[in-house]
Amino acid sequence: MSGNEMRVGLLGLGCVGCGVIRALSRNQEEIERRAGRRLSIVAACARDLSKERDCDLEGIQLTQDPQQVVDHPEVDVVIELMGGIDPARELILRAIDQGKPVITANKHLIALHGSEVFAHAEQKGVNVAFEAAVAGSIPIIKNIRESLSGNRIEWIAGIINGTGNYILTAMEGGGRSFTEILAEAQRLGYAEADPTFDIDGTDAAHKLTILASIAFGIPLSYDRVHVEGISDITSENIADARSLGYRIKHLGIAKRTEEGIELRVHPTLIPDSHLVANVAGVMNAVVVMSDAAGAHLYYGAGAGGDPTASAVIADLVDVVRSLTTDAENRVPHLAYQPHALSDIPLLPIEQVTTACYLRLQAIDRPGVLAAVTDILGNLGISIEAIQQREPEIAAVDGSVPVILLTHEVPEDRMNQALSRIEAQEDIVAPVQRIRIEPMR
Ligand code: NAP
Repeated sequence: MSGNEMRVGLLGLGCVGCGVIRALSRNQEEIERRAGRRLSIVAACARDLSKERDCDLEGIQLTQDPQQVVDHPEVDVVIELMGGIDPARELILRAIDQGKPVITANKHLIALHGSEVFAHAEQKGVNVAFEAAVAGSIPIIKNIRESLSGNRIEWIAGIINGTGNYILTAMEGGGRSFTEILAEAQRLGYAEADPTFDIDGTDAAHKLTILASIAFGIPLSYDRVHVEGISDITSENIADARSLGYRIKHLGIAKRTEEGIELRVHPTLIPDSHLVANVAGVMNAVVVMSDAAGAHLYYGAGAGGDPTASAVIADLVDVVRSLTTDAENRVPHLAYQPHALSDIPLLPIEQVTTACYLRLQAIDRPGVLAAVTDILGNLGISIEAIQQREPEIAAVDGSVPVILLTHEVPEDRMNQALSRIEAQEDIVAPVQRIRIEPMR
């Protein structure tokens, strides 16, 4: 630190990196009045220094070598906005080794390597902040970690990937397929050039891993999250849900039950009267249910340069303020004291109990539905609603769609039912199953 100035090294000058530079310059005075000192970026790196940037780089020393930024003698704190695991992980550990606090938006890295990073940071008495890693501008980490610390958190459910929500919302308009809308999202810059992590649920699973850890005081457990993406959702599913009083949202859900903790990311039917059902486009929303506070809903921009920069700078101000606090008295990285993490069991998806929407393609013949309801009844699965639909285009095999809503059923029992139903001669396609959450 030089005098009353905190000097920042910035790894990455992309969407978020430039957002941070813009916000720090635009709101310099406001931020300084809050932090109690001036925050200035002294060094930054990018791969290609000839690229035009959407921010003013005057006065910042630029390099292609991120290590030079970390090691820079004038850098007091490092902001990592490069993304990916390598070399971000090594650079963060290197900064910690030098006693430099780190701020990162890298959910991938925190979900997979957070335990290593935090253990190292605790050993060195260095702060690592990661608010921007979950739900962009929404201060969800701070709220769970600090504002709800008097509560026992029961469950968290949220739309934590804006690209997925953009696609599902656009499909509700009808007439366009998943593939067409994904191409549009890429054209508009909402989806990455490689949108795999958004579409297959990996990105949401990274964020859910972090949320569950700070909510329940469990180790970061990315490999225990059950993950399903949205690419199998069809316009017909969306129309079925609408007609039954539901919307389909891609949710990350972490729930405490008597048996253990459920960690799952999948498309979900939620009642259309719920606020989260009405979260449209790229916006994010997270519900946190806790015993004393009840339900809290956090809503806001989950991505984008400026919104994500908001969270990065809030972390920067917190880190600056905590410099004079001894390490033991800071807010723990994962909310709970590191020695107090719980080994409460994490439940495999087979032990999760939910109500379900089922879509069957059945030959329109007497007795077919009776056979299906018998299979469900024999397994103790009760039916809430059943509808036979007219096909939009007459199927050549004479089959028609049948929609079923079941009451709550353990996943393994529903799996048995589905394989018995699919074994029926008159069921001509795999049954589609989407879980239902009441959100209360
Ligand atoms: P981005 O636009 O791809 O920017 C990455 C930056 O890092 C680029 O400037 C790139 O240089 C630089 N970089 C990458 N590897 C490098 C290397 N080996 N050496 C030097 N520079 C390197 O990414 P972003 O969207 O800003 O995201 C940054 C981080 O924030 C990621 O962890 C992401 O998951 C997270 N995040 C992003 C958002 C969002 O809305 N974008 C929201 C929440 C969290 P070039 O520009 O020269 O290629």
